[in-house]
Amino acid sequence: MRILVPGTGVAGLALAVELTARGHEVSLIERAAEFRTGGTPIDIRGDALGVVARLGLLPRVREHRVDASERGVFVDAHGATVAPLPVEQVGDSDDDIEITRDDLARILVDALPPGVPIRFGDSVVALDENEDGGRVDVGFLSGHRESFDLVLGADGLHSAVRRLVFGPEADCVRHLGVHLGIAHVTDDAAGNTGGAGDTPSEFCNYPGHMAGFMRFKGETLALLAFRAGPIDHDHHDLAAQRRIVAEAFAGHTEWEIPRLLGAVRRDPAFYFDAISQIHLPAWHRGRVALVGDAAYCASPLSGRGTSLALTGAAFLAEALDRHPGDHTAAFEEYAARQRPYVEFAQASVDEGAGIVVPDSWEAIRARNEALGGAEAVESVR
Ligand SMILES: Cc1cc2nc3c(=O)[nH]c(=O)nc-3n(C[C@H](O)[C@H](O)[C@H](O)COP(=O)(O)OP(=O)(O)OC[C@H]3O[C@@H](n4cnc5c(N)ncnc54)[C@H](O)[C@@H]3O)c2cc1C
Repeated sequence: MRILVPGTGVAGLALAVELTARGHEVSLIERAAEFRTGGTPIDIRGDALGVVARLGLLPRVREHRVDASERGVFVDAHGATVAPLPVEQVGDSDDDIEITRDDLARILVDALPPGVPIRFGDSVVALDENEDGGRVDVGFLSGHRESFDLVLGADGLHSAVRRLVFGPEADCVRHLGVHLGIAHVTDDAAGNTGGAGDTPSEFCNYPGHMAGFMRFKGETLALLAFRAGPIDHDHHDLAAQRRIVAEAFAGHTEWEIPRLLGAVRRDPAFYFDAISQIHLPAWHRGRVALVGDAAYCASPLSGRGTSLALTGAAFLAEALDRHPGDHTAAFEEYAARQRPYVEFAQASVDEGAGIVVPDSWEAIRARNEALGGAEAVESVR
């Protein structure tokens, strides 16, 4: 089949690898001008490791494994350690490999056969099924039009495919009350070289806010998270996103917050989004289906978004194999296999925000005590 896959994150790339391996003709499009990079290391867990193994990619994934170790700590406003980071926030075991999003994406790109077209800087703006229902006519932002047998939207949390086929984002998004900004730190005075003995990752809280350095493999990221309701903004307006983060931490000069905000101002690949989930009763309509965050985002708090993207891509491709000529049966089988993983991942975030961004000093103290740390220093401001 001729299949359009919008989105070149883990879901879109894994799907393209799975589909081309089965003889389908895949076209990828990506809204950004190049592959989007950045983000914290992500986890490949449980059955998603089986997907990676079946694709023959496990040795390379292991080779790029991030040994984040347990050396993450919460610190107070003066930089003194108040609690260790809970191990489950760090992950890493035989059933859970941590790898950077960029390394995983590169491994998937390398696994694509040569010649798979990837068009950057384009998006889907119209999707119409032919009158006989045999094809989908796709209109692109670039003005180009083309027909495909299937459109499989892997275009992330703010999916355009989902909006065109299932309606506005507001109808299926569940905002979890936290926003997250991530920027590269290029002046890590702590000297993170990726070797043993490096300064651990450090995170500092005041009520409803978390700011810190995540250090791994010689890289340092600034992480800034804060509690707030939905913030209406253009998801592609970097300047507006930088302003939102700066305003959320305005007036806070304690610890390393000014330096962290400096990284937000400087990093051209700064990432910002609301921590949200997507809940949809069905992930397909006609010849269009969704995979990954576009269909069932579980949020970074779940630590399972990438695993869902990998199992989703595999189940969808396998189902299309098992039901040749019957995409509806294939989409239904994909949903039936994937749904339990999604429900588990989405339900797993209940406690997440409480650990990362406690909303009061009492909650910060209780968290630190529960983690076996000393009492937080309260004189932050
Ligand atoms: C830059 C970045 C950083 C991230 N950092 C983290 C992190 O630190 N922790 C974490 O848990 N998760 C993070 N995520 C989310 C995580 O990658 C996903 O939850 C998971 O890997 C599932 O991936 P996905 O492919 O479904 O979605 P995504 O990784 O979001 O990929 C979707 C892709 O589709 C593209 N796209 C969007 N709209 C369109 C459109 N209209 N047409 C074509 N393409 C479009 C996007 O640019 C993106 O490349 C990040 C995502 C991105 C994009």
